[in-house]
Amino acid sequence: MISQKMEQLGKKSSVIREIFEYAKKRRAEIGDDKVFDFSIGNPSIPAPAAVNEAIRRLTAEQDPVALHGYTSAPGDLGVRGKIADQITRRFGMEASAATIYMTCGAAASLTISLHAIVNEGDEVVVLAPFFPEYRVFAEKAGATLTVVKCREEDFQIDFDTLDSAITDKTKAIIVNSPNNPSGVVLSLDTIQKLTALLDKKQQEYGTHIFLIADEPYRELVYAMEVPYLPLYYKNTIVCYSYSKSLSLPGERIGYVFVSPRMDNAGDVFAAVCGAGRALGFVCAPSLLQYTIGECLNETANIDAYRKNRDLFYETLTDIGYKIARPDGAFYLFMKALEDDAYTFCERAKKYELLLVPSDSFGFEGYVRLAYCVAYDTIERALPAFRALYNDYQESK
Ligand code: PLP
Repeated sequence: MISQKMEQLGKKSSVIREIFEYAKKRRAEIGDDKVFDFSIGNPSIPAPAAVNEAIRRLTAEQDPVALHGYTSAPGDLGVRGKIADQITRRFGMEASAATIYMTCGAAASLTISLHAIVNEGDEVVVLAPFFPEYRVFAEKAGATLTVVKCREEDFQIDFDTLDSAITDKTKAIIVNSPNNPSGVVLSLDTIQKLTALLDKKQQEYGTHIFLIADEPYRELVYAMEVPYLPLYYKNTIVCYSYSKSLSLPGERIGYVFVSPRMDNAGDVFAAVCGAGRALGFVCAPSLLQYTIGECLNETANIDAYRKNRDLFYETLTDIGYKIARPDGAFYLFMKALEDDAYTFCERAKKYELLLVPSDSFGFEGYVRLAYCVAYDTIERALPAFRALYNDYQESK
């Protein structure tokens, strides 16, 4: 007998994957340029040239046995030290290699962090709309998920709901800003209110509540600052990834940073190492670790995303669609033109528009549009969005 839970998980394909397969089929039927696929969040801009230069340099100049050999389980000490220095320089926050653990991207960072802190029966709070894999990771770690919906007017935190959702069993809250799927950045005011609430709840219950900052989109932000959470709350664990910031999603590289400000940082980091070990996530890919160490000041050129965002957001809102103001990441979160987002997506398909219904993000009645696509795909898709809108107006 195999694990039924895992079997079910493996057999249940995600909505996004289903749309991806449909897009492939449709392209073969009617041609590439006639299908407008906004389903997948795969970066559409190349990694900075410095990344490939670093890989060429490392493979040409370094001893191949050492270069491709195991690093220590939490990662190469030199690379972790460089990341710590960058955190200190950039955010004015004390950091050292001693609480940095290299991982295979944010997915591994999250699952390691959750396994490190959760005991069976604990609760993990997520703010909807949220990345659907949070449920998989949290439940696998033994937690139950508590979903708190953000305010619909601006997708900032609804503190009345959050206040009543935090209990003496709450072990962590996951914060993802800039957000997938809304593109919204949580304001400094929101972060300060959040950390004050968490401090109050910790005191009230005599517990530790961890703030997990899921940060794959930190660098994808347009004209605003993203508050660095360890500066505002001591029990913070940062789950960072280079998947989007350096356009390297397939290379699987990121890290966990346990804030040294938390009282028991050494023990929490030991638990992170233990979770990495138990999950088989030791020694992240060594070539990528060394490459990252050479490219810490690089970011993919996000101008293309900004241009896409401006054209897409402005034209769709002019047409009449309602969209959360996206200040970062590469997604638009758009209100469907009827209550059921699935039915709306089916109707959009008639115009060859492939959109993701929002239900799996824990927030019904919306669709996610990933605009990490070529600019001209958006230009060509806009008449179809207009026709879809008119179609709904006429059928009212
Ligand atoms: N967290 C969020 C919010 C994401 O959108 C993603 C990927 O799209 C991840 C985590 C996982 O990122 P990675 O590719 O670094 O594992």
